Amino acid sequence: MKELVIISGKGGTGKTSFAASFAYLAGENAVLADYDVDASDLHILLEPKIKKTYQFYGGKKANIIREKCIGCGKCQEICRFDAVKNVDDKFEINKIDCEGCGYCYRICPVDAIKFEDNLSGKWYISKTRRNSTLVFAKLGIAEENSGKLVSKIKEVAHNLANENNKDLLISDGAPGIGCPVIASLSNANYVLIVTEPSLSGFHDLKRILELVKHFGYSAGCIINKYDINENITKEIEIFSHNNELEIIGKIPYSDSFPKSLVLKQTVVEYDKLDIGKTVERCWSKLQTKL
Ligand code: SF4
Ligand code: SF4
Repeated sequence: MKELVIISGKGGTGKTSFAASFAYLAGENAVLADYDVDASDLHILLEPKIKKTYQFYGGKKANIIREKCIGCGKCQEICRFDAVKNVDDKFEINKIDCEGCGYCYRICPVDAIKFEDNLSGKWYISKTRRNSTLVFAKLGIAEENSGKLVSKIKEVAHNLANENNKDLLISDGAPGIGCPVIASLSNANYVLIVTEPSLSGFHDLKRILELVKHFGYSAGCIINKYDINENITKEIEIFSHNNELEIIGKIPYSDSFPKSLVLKQTVVEYDKLDIGKTVERCWSKLQTKL
């Protein structure tokens, strides 16, 4: 089984539109995964039916048992994250501010603090309208541990692909260059970087390629909206040539992308002749890399 991971240096480059289009073209031959657990939206385009829902516990948080607390204030004194508040003479812990260090739990003189696994999100196994399996997750507001949740989604998607004899996993990677994207990339067979020709887009491409090369993955790129700045597109092409980054495709600016999003369709469904054909050619080329 091979995994194609689609990433970009930052959000807003059209990464998910390409991931959804390739998922649509691959149909039931592929398992799909969405690693953007902070703002997942692959499911919005693929409109899957949820088959199973699971809870994700990431890290621990402290909680005061009011009936046991004697109000000594020691937990508030020692919490360096200011998570303990005194509200109407009662001590309580703000879950969002608590970093889960467990210090208050250890020093409370009367064992009035519980230190429990924290429910930080949910993940889902679903079926898309193309009858492929999509694994995705939603992290709770202000929750961390997204790298850990990404690793969970990856493990489940790999297992499902292997159990169902699917030879391809198409993954919409987490954005940025931090822990979630590193978790997205682990064991990838090919990494597709979606970029656009702006100064910040080019800068992001360089940063993300550095990360991809550091871990030794094979990579190619799509230059989206290549015609909005053909000078920077040329620079990206020269840079790619010098850094063994194959250009998988160049896509012109097109209002088919936003229009297809409004209709909750992939661009290959919405625009079968023009942009859809160009994206299909990218897909054919990508398949030769896997
Ligand atoms: S340390 Fe324990 S007893 Fe003291 S205020 Fe905090 S929870 Fe209450
Ligand atoms: S677990 Fe750590 S961060 Fe959370 S309230 Fe206790 S001392 Fe503060």
